[in-house]
Amino acid sequence: MTADDEPVDVVIVGLGATGAVAAHVLTAAGLRVLALEAGPRLTSDMMSADEIGNDIDAWMSLPKSADEVPTLRMRTDVDAHPSWWPTLMVNAVGGSTIHYPAASFRLLPWNFRSRSAVAERYGEEVIPPDATLADWPLRYDDLEPYYDRVEYAIGVAGVAGAEPFAGPRTRGYPMPPLRRSGWNELTDHGARALGWHPYPTPAALNSRPYDGRAACTYCGYCSGSGCHVDAKGSPDVTLIPTAEATGLLEVRTGARVTRIEVDPLRSDRVTGVRYVLDGQERRATGRIVVLSTFTYENVRLLLLSASEHHPQGLANNAGQVGAHFVPHVTPSVSGLFPGRRLNLFTGTWGQSTVVDDWNGDNFDHAGLGFIGGGALMAANEVRPIAASTLTPPSVPRWGSAWKAWLAANAPSVGSAVAQFESLSYVHNRLDLDPTAVDAHGIPRIRITYQPGENEYRGAAFLRERLREWLRAAGAQEVWADEEIHIEGRHVYGGTRIGDDPRTSALDAFGFAHEVGNLAVLGGSTFVSSGGHNPTLTAQALAWRTSEEMLRRLRAPD
Ligand SMILES: Cc1cc2nc3c(=O)[nH]c(=O)nc-3n(C[C@H](O)[C@H](O)[C@H](O)COP(=O)(O)OP(=O)(O)OC[C@H]3O[C@@H](n4cnc5c(N)ncnc54)[C@H](O)[C@@H]3O)c2cc1C
Ligand code: SF4
Repeated sequence: MTADDEPVDVVIVGLGATGAVAAHVLTAAGLRVLALEAGPRLTSDMMSADEIGNDIDAWMSLPKSADEVPTLRMRTDVDAHPSWWPTLMVNAVGGSTIHYPAASFRLLPWNFRSRSAVAERYGEEVIPPDATLADWPLRYDDLEPYYDRVEYAIGVAGVAGAEPFAGPRTRGYPMPPLRRSGWNELTDHGARALGWHPYPTPAALNSRPYDGRAACTYCGYCSGSGCHVDAKGSPDVTLIPTAEATGLLEVRTGARVTRIEVDPLRSDRVTGVRYVLDGQERRATGRIVVLSTFTYENVRLLLLSASEHHPQGLANNAGQVGAHFVPHVTPSVSGLFPGRRLNLFTGTWGQSTVVDDWNGDNFDHAGLGFIGGGALMAANEVRPIAASTLTPPSVPRWGSAWKAWLAANAPSVGSAVAQFESLSYVHNRLDLDPTAVDAHGIPRIRITYQPGENEYRGAAFLRERLREWLRAAGAQEVWADEEIHIEGRHVYGGTRIGDDPRTSALDAFGFAHEVGNLAVLGGSTFVSSGGHNPTLTAQALAWRTSEEMLRRLRAPD
């Protein structure tokens, strides 16, 4: 038997980076919100400096996402197998931001109108015919006030004037940048020697005490682990406590949503969700349902919620749920700096030196054979087990020669990575795997993804820039993995926003075209991937969607 909860104004499914923004904005406006979160609550005293537990066993993914790793295939005519892309999403109040190193970039103004900008500068013909690249239904200026609100609500450290290609800002960052390490300085100087414009990564980490939380200790266990002193602006210690303090947010942990329910009288509205808590099925109802469970699960829950009027999945009569899926492609390069103890195991990713000269359309693409680009980042926080794989091809990958090389050189290896803005294509998408299921017998998400020539050329181009950069910083030997590397944690599309219901699942504010009281948040709503980390943009979009929700709730139905 299904137990019914008392109705609320808004039911939020998944209380991570973006769901928390909705909870914060909606409760501040006086709405009653129920947040259903599959994972538990975690606290700072549970966080430890443990590379195996955090990065390899990924204990924070165990409640749910470790059991439902998507399957992957490169072509539609072959079977899919468990994805080898690391996803490592966290299931807990606060979501995956609990163990992110909080690089908090805005997108470039160009990213919001890349299709028309490319066509104007280089001609429509340079866009691959099978790419589904589109302009966003909003501009940077529309999102800027929301970027600003998120930066101050979670606390971002950075240097406003140092970002030469960034769009205009309402005001500076709430905190000065994080401390610079020797590696940060070395790569900064290397980039300047090449005529580039490096700057410190903006990060949602406290460079000084902020909003009652302590400053960062630069412990070196930021990516893949939660913060032991609450210096990270993850929503479990920022947005969620403020929402709970209103008395209007109820957080139900261990609540796994299995289905979104359509109003039997109106196929263009949902009534709430079904979920499982302590083995019992329950039903939660609200005037609006917000889906914020990360890209893979957003698409999966919509497809699992098929019904009479939505036979291909909820809000999917136009076949747009799962379409336009695209991950970042991330080439990386390592270099040996003989005689220098770089000690990259110290500090945090959030301290990276970043270069945007090869991002977006900040350089001339004429004759290059690809469009877009990506940020180059030289980061700290390469822990010992991860560092043991950063050996040049001339060194064996095992045995005494490998150990001897590491003992002599590991502290002198530096590396840098790029986030290439890949394109979405008609043949790449997410859907339900017809055979693979999770431990509950529920179909897993199947990824069909084949990078195009655009991605191979763009990745090779950025790899060359990374090589130049490390050499300019003093590396004597530089090596790279020439395989194309996919970032399974930076994944976009599947429920993209747009004005045209034939080419997008959601309207310009993030509400389903076919179901007016269903909002979707997160990277799945992005129209294109951009060349920066996604979360600040996803949170700014979530803030904008939440304000629009308030307007719609106040308007007559
Ligand atoms: C190791 C790592 C490093 C990263 N570094 C950065 C970075 O530096 N900068 C950056 O911008 N991004 C980074 N990211 C990406 C970032 O974490 C995500 O972009 C962001 O957390 C996505 O927000 P979200 O709200 O969509 O999902 P999440 O924050 O993952 O929240 C989703 C929540 O939904 C819950 N949930 C899932 N399914 C259900 C269900 N069926 N029922 C109920 N609840 C459910 C989950 O348990 C989770 O708590 C990183 C990610 C990882 C894994
Ligand atoms: S590096 Fe700083 S913010 Fe990150 S976990 Fe350590 S103390 Fe916390």
